[in-house]
Amino acid sequence: MSENPILEVRDLKMHFPVKEGIFMRTGKYNKAVDGVSLKIKPGETLGLVGESGCGKSTLGRCITRLYNPTAGQIRFEGKDITHIRGRELHPYRQNIQMIFQDPMESLNSRHTVGDILQEPFIIHKICDKASRQKRVVELLEIVGLPARSVTRYPFEFSGGQRQRIGIARAIALNPRLIICDEPVSALDVSIQSQILNLLIELQKEFNLSYLFIAHDLAVVKHISDRIAIMYLGKLVGEGEGETIYQNAKHPYTQSLISAIPIPNPHHEVKRQVLSGDVPSPIDPPSGCSFHPRCPRVMDECKVKTPKLIPLKEHAEQDVACLLYT
Ligand code: SF4
Repeated sequence: MSENPILEVRDLKMHFPVKEGIFMRTGKYNKAVDGVSLKIKPGETLGLVGESGCGKSTLGRCITRLYNPTAGQIRFEGKDITHIRGRELHPYRQNIQMIFQDPMESLNSRHTVGDILQEPFIIHKICDKASRQKRVVELLEIVGLPARSVTRYPFEFSGGQRQRIGIARAIALNPRLIICDEPVSALDVSIQSQILNLLIELQKEFNLSYLFIAHDLAVVKHISDRIAIMYLGKLVGEGEGETIYQNAKHPYTQSLISAIPIPNPHHEVKRQVLSGDVPSPIDPPSGCSFHPRCPRVMDECKVKTPKLIPLKEHAEQDVACLLYT
């Protein structure tokens, strides 16, 4: 793997204004993403994990430029793409694609699979009709669907097959980076592993980089080289996949890991159940935003905000927690 990142996100913020009162004035902001920095190398998978509402999907949409970030920087292959628009954005739309959680919603149900898969070529004015049709059949073969699928509609397929169509559309233009936004969450467990294996095979074949978003650490374990943990708009931990699973230091990451089921009845793990829900990003708790739920909370956690820093004795792991400062 090359050391130069294909994607670099620096201190990214996405704050949505919240309208209040009869005059609909902006009083507060929903700080969905609040100062996230990360890097992804070519051919690498970064797993991004957190509970619903932590901002991980918003971060993915900022990177694909479906949202215009409030602050910070997004660099793709060394170039700042944070604020580019219109025609300038076209090559990046080709190179950064997205796979969505619910393929039924993301695929136009009134179009045939053939039309859906030809659309990216038409939008980007790539190749003539005959070449497009040939390429669509190739794409179907790559994702394990028969060529006759071109004349069928999305509702005629199972959930797993629909996600294969979503994947075919994502790889149609030979992208370099794919944001996988909970691509297996809506699927049965047996189908999940087939889709994950397909993504792994495609990564090897086309040297793809993935930002793999999930709320379940067990899912990202299978596919990620590195894992980042997100809580209330910020990263609270990041490191090599194996290090995070074997020796996570952040109390939130530890509780997520303790919730992973172990298929061995003789191996008992003490589950750390978190109390309460994720607080609102409109009014986050003071200090460390995890403090109202943290089993190791200290007095200073209510006033000091921990920064994400490398742990001295665990260089392969970054943690945002006052226990380690
Ligand atoms: Fe828990 Fe305090 Fe660490 Fe936050 S800073 S994770 S509240 S120990």
